[in-house]
Amino acid sequence: MTAGARLVVLGKQGAGKGTQCLSLSHHYVVTHVSTGDMLREAVKQGTSLGMKAKELMGRGELLGDDLIMEMVSTRLNESDVKNRGFILDGCPRTVSQAQRLADFLSPVDLDLVIDIEVPTTQVLRRLASRRVCVDCGANYSLTNRPTIGWSCDVCGGEVIQREDDTEEAISKRLEIYEAQTAPLIDWYLDRGQLASVTGTGSPEAVTKRIVRAIEDRRNRKGGRFS
Ligand code: ADP
Repeated sequence: MTAGARLVVLGKQGAGKGTQCLSLSHHYVVTHVSTGDMLREAVKQGTSLGMKAKELMGRGELLGDDLIMEMVSTRLNESDVKNRGFILDGCPRTVSQAQRLADFLSPVDLDLVIDIEVPTTQVLRRLASRRVCVDCGANYSLTNRPTIGWSCDVCGGEVIQREDDTEEAISKRLEIYEAQTAPLIDWYLDRGQLASVTGTGSPEAVTKRIVRAIEDRRNRKGGRFS
């Protein structure tokens, strides 16, 4: 049986977190927990969380730590995650969220935090071209379009530009990333939990680098995590 894992994936907007988390979730047979996807689903369903989230997300601003950590801890308490582990995408995004996540997971900590490194010039190019499926979240771009029109190859859903992929919201998100999320890299480095991986090149090449980093860490821990 493939061993499970408890991972966090960090990286700027457009670094490829969503794509890599999906591949990793298949590779390790663990649940992909994406706070952005959960919030977009809440907006679509019109729940009270969704109503709170809609405006802030549209502006590219962060939701409060309390709200996010309640949503994440509820999800991490579910049985699929408890049995096999998780790949957390989009959280933590502040040092306070990271501290609360560690407290929540204690006494068992994360196995590894992966930082996908891509230069800002490149993420700006990727974000301007990014298109996503409204139903399943599959990623496309102007140069990697669905086969038939703008219908998703995976589920047939409509493929659109995300509302927060406007120039204004992108620059706000990158600014917040530098101010609030980038400090997490040193925070996890100090705790000996970080592996940085180059995020340029094909998605498959990046996945191979990440899997190698995870396996190196697992081998150093005597073949097992946690
Ligand atoms: P991106 O990484 O491209 O900004 P996400 O899909 O991860 O996109 O998140 C979309 C939006 O959801 C964020 O801009 C923010 O408004 C909100 N959000 C997601 N995760 C968090 C979080 N951990 N803390 C606060 N807000 C969050």
